[in-house]
Amino acid sequence: MRIVSHSLRLSSAVQSLSALALSLSLALMVPAAAQAQVQGDQGAQGEATPPPESDPRLHDIAGAASPERLEAYIRTLAEFGTRNTFSDTLSTTRGIGAARRWIHDEFERISAACGGCLEVSYQRTLMTVEDNPRIPHDVEIVNVIAILRGTEHPDRYVIMSGDIDSRASNTFNFEIDAPGANDNASGMAGTIEAARVLSQYRFPTSVVFAGLSGEEQGLWGGQHMAAMAREEGWTIDAVLNNDMIGNIAGIDGVIDNTVFRVFSEPTPVQGHQPQGWNTRVYGGEVDGPSRQIARYVERIADRYFPNLDAMMIYRLDRFGRGGHHRPFNDAGFPGVRIMEAHEHYDRQHQDIRVVDGREFGDVIEGVDFDYAARLTSLNAAVLAAMAWAPPAPATVRIGGAVRASTTLSWDPVDAPNLAGYKVYWRLTTEPQWRWSRWVGDVTEFTLENLVIDNYLFGVAAVSRDGNESPVVFPTALIR
Ligand SMILES: [Zn+2]
Repeated sequence: MRIVSHSLRLSSAVQSLSALALSLSLALMVPAAAQAQVQGDQGAQGEATPPPESDPRLHDIAGAASPERLEAYIRTLAEFGTRNTFSDTLSTTRGIGAARRWIHDEFERISAACGGCLEVSYQRTLMTVEDNPRIPHDVEIVNVIAILRGTEHPDRYVIMSGDIDSRASNTFNFEIDAPGANDNASGMAGTIEAARVLSQYRFPTSVVFAGLSGEEQGLWGGQHMAAMAREEGWTIDAVLNNDMIGNIAGIDGVIDNTVFRVFSEPTPVQGHQPQGWNTRVYGGEVDGPSRQIARYVERIADRYFPNLDAMMIYRLDRFGRGGHHRPFNDAGFPGVRIMEAHEHYDRQHQDIRVVDGREFGDVIEGVDFDYAARLTSLNAAVLAAMAWAPPAPATVRIGGAVRASTTLSWDPVDAPNLAGYKVYWRLTTEPQWRWSRWVGDVTEFTLENLVIDNYLFGVAAVSRDGNESPVVFPTALIR
């Protein structure tokens, strides 16, 4: 079943038509001589045979998450009654303790079915009243982590996360029912289901499935995991934080199961540019590493998911609100929030009640399992594509001022599955990389007749099976 408002469908059709018209007119604007020259220097600079444009395994993964399983997982999580951070930890049927043990067991069951492929563990930290006077009692914040260890780069990670905890109207009321079916049993269920889907494959890079806790009171579980990752020296390529992926009927009156949102910060809080790079004169203000992850998510959606479009939101999170990708960003790791396009505020952070016929509460009836399954498959495809790709080049340099060409150079990537590199560029006002060129296994390339002033550029590493790293924006000059 596909539901989409006519106005939305029409506007996206108009958008793609105008994009087509624009690219046609741009193609016509390039003089024939310039085109011939670009093609002519392929042999001299690069490798003739590019890897395939798509990976058939990703088409399989794009349809692999099961709506029935999503429903079963979300029901189970909602039926713990409340998963409030301060709720009961001893009961086997109610509260956050029962919920996290069930998640741990579910990861173990998935692992048992793939020959023990997942390393499942709890990750704990203590919050005390002494340090946090507003909390009702001391509490252990417990994340549940499952790692599908990488075969080539075991200390390099791509991470999908959801939240274990839920809340009602008062975030410290730990007795009242708070099923949190959409916020955020949907993201947690998606994370478990993605683990099941990807446990059928092996990857050079490690894939992590994380159930985080203490989100509603202060992003505590994410803070702790990010701190542990720093302490243990993890290299994190991306965090895909899933927070509410099941609501299709919005407070804005729109019912739409064809669009989702990706929130990303523009640049890291502690600048990612080394000395000598001045964003004001060279650019990069909308090209931080998290933004490249958002673009990557959109590209995977376009390539492998018919009837699913990413709405890229150029902000850290919703207006003035928070989510568990933020502590990873704070710690210097790239990460985005993936979320439904149309949320409904009556069905989040609310006591279950009816007021003048209006129903409040985050109950199971508000979740669309087909939609949640498709966003889960999307996550799985993004994780797989990144984990099959070579690591991105560490540093990209650029030069070409006052010349008829732009030159990029980058650090070589050391990975057995590396085929070579792709250079990307786009107009300075465009949200997504528009043009790309396979340049082979080189560490420097000159794009003739592309004037550096008019475009933004980046470089990605490509595997032999065609999977690409996120694009890396230049942060240094070729002098
Ligand atoms: Zn919430």
